[in-house]
Amino acid sequence: MLDQIRDLYQEVVFDHNRNPRNFRVMEDANRKIEGFNPLCGDKITLYVKVNAGVIEDVSFQGSGCAISTASASLMTEIVKGHTEDEAQHLFDLFHRITTGKNDDAVNLEEIGKLAVLSGVRAYPARVKCATLAWHSLQAALKNEADTVSTE
Ligand code: ZN
Repeated sequence: MLDQIRDLYQEVVFDHNRNPRNFRVMEDANRKIEGFNPLCGDKITLYVKVNAGVIEDVSFQGSGCAISTASASLMTEIVKGHTEDEAQHLFDLFHRITTGKNDDAVNLEEIGKLAVLSGVRAYPARVKCATLAWHSLQAALKNEADTVSTE
């Protein structure tokens, strides 16, 4: 991994954990899901407001490790204003960069801030912490369940 990405990763995780974005209850959400990562004990409640296929607003509450909180915070910033299809595409990219598969097929420029989270690859035990919010988002958009677990 590039040293710059690892440094930036630590900086971004620190910042978003200390000051999470969109960390609030959303009263008028039309999707809500509880996400749980039993390996680490991370819990989040994700609120999404979808209108005509567009994610108009997204927020979360919960308690978890620095990585799960920072990842959820970053995710809410990144997907807000995107369509459900675009969010799914971002999830796919995110999954690839955090698991290190098809590395060279991912254009780091395209995914912007998400690239920072590829830093989690240096800590394989924490990948589920980083993906919890994304799995929750996916389940919320599919509207299939009220809870999601990484296990
Ligand atoms: Zn965790």
